Parts: sequence; structure tokens; C-alpha cells
Amino acid sequence: MYMQQRVLVWMLVVVLGVSCRALPFDAAAPAAHSAHQVHWEYSGEKGPAHWGELAKEFALCGSGTAQTPIDIKPTTREALTNPELRYQQGLVTVVNNGHTVQINAAPGNGMTIDGVHYALVQMHFHAPSEHTVAGEPAPLELHFVHKSADGTLAVLGALVHEGAQENPAWSPVVAALADHGTSGATLVMNWPALVPADMTTYRYMGSLTTPPCSEGVHWLVVQTPLELSAAQIGAFTALYTGNARPLQERNERPVVADSSPS
Ligand SMILES: [Zn+2]
Repeated sequence: MYMQQRVLVWMLVVVLGVSCRALPFDAAAPAAHSAHQVHWEYSGEKGPAHWGELAKEFALCGSGTAQTPIDIKPTTREALTNPELRYQQGLVTVVNNGHTVQINAAPGNGMTIDGVHYALVQMHFHAPSEHTVAGEPAPLELHFVHKSADGTLAVLGALVHEGAQENPAWSPVVAALADHGTSGATLVMNWPALVPADMTTYRYMGSLTTPPCSEGVHWLVVQTPLELSAAQIGAFTALYTGNARPLQERNERPVVADSSPS
């Protein structure tokens, strides 16, 4: 009897000890951090159809009504002011995060949209494209992720079509991908040369295209696609292919095309 009580007390101590240690840890960890631990994939039981069930922080992936990507068919045309890019050449770090290859930007790059400044955070890619334009997908889509001082995200998306010529601006990035698809590589990134010259964009309000699928993201998709050669596109798809979320319902969201004369 005495032994049984000791065992019970010991078990209680262990259980309470674990709980007490777990509580402050959970309380201290931001929701995004704990959600980040949850493994998700692009197919199967942890694929996009199930993201919303994998963690409570991912709920919007299943229940959100302003999700990305969408098929872009403009609902309205307005005279828009193109985003003003303030990109500069600089040293960057490559991060292979298991879902894509991401290139983190150094401070000092950014984009101004309608008077609001968004700092460039990182660029990554999806293959095939996540957005389609009038039903047409592209082999690749690049996302330049920006964040304003109040935490609002604005993503500049560029679809990549296959061109006959190598795109020299992208050659250093392609070389870095081929040599170091793994994390930690550094390269000098000529950010201004990587984006299309014509910054006319489609715009709509959407979400992150990966869990937690947070909404309130300003999406600007460049109307003129970039062109990379088949070999250059192949450098991306050799690392990841099929890392594109399926199309989401547009619902009542306006999708604006620029009516300004170019
Ligand atoms: Zn993306």
C-alpha cells in the first residue's frame, strides 16, 4: 500500500511537472511559432485539402473566403499607380525550407504602393505557377514578399514563361540554385534587374498560399510575365516541382486590372 501511494505521488509529480513546464512554454510561444512546427505537404493526407485540419492556427486554409491563389480574370479596370520599387544590389542568403527555396533580402529594399512603404523580406518560387491568368498556368511563379511597418504583407507575384533566350539577370540566381540548393549559400543579388521593367499589375486582396494561409495580404501580380530559358526554369524545378497550392474561390473579391495607358 505504502509503495503504491509513493508510486501514485511520483506519477502525479511527473504529470504536474510536465504540465507546468508545458504551460509557460505554450503561453510564451506565439501562435505562428507553434503552427510552424506542424508538418504540411503539397499532396496526400497533409496536402492542401487538409491544411485547415492540421492545426487550429491553419483553420483559414480550410474556412477562409479570401484565399490565394486564384485564376486572374479582372472584374474591374482602374487607373492604378504602379508600385515604386526601391531595390538595390546586395548580398543575400539562400534558405531551402523544405517547401521552396527562399532568398532572404537584406534591409534597405522595398516597394511603395499608394504612399505606403513595404520592406522586401524575401523572394521564393512555386512550380508550376500558383496563379493562372484567364485559366492559363505558367511553369514558374516568383513571389517577392514585402511587409509594412504595421505588419501588413504585400506580395509581388511574377509569372515566368519559357523564352528562347537565357535571361542574364537571373543567371547568378540560377547558378546559386544549381550549386547550392541547400541553405546557407550566399550570393550577390541584383534585385533591380530581377523584376520586369513594366510594373503594371493586377491587384486583389488574398492570403498567404502556405499555412497558416493568413488573409489581408495585398497581391500584385505583374501583368507582363518574365521570360526565362527552359534551362533556367529547369534549375528551379530540379529543386522543387508541384509546390503550388491549388486555385481557390475568388468569391466576391474584386480583381483590378490597370487601365492606365502604358
Ligand atoms: Zn509563395
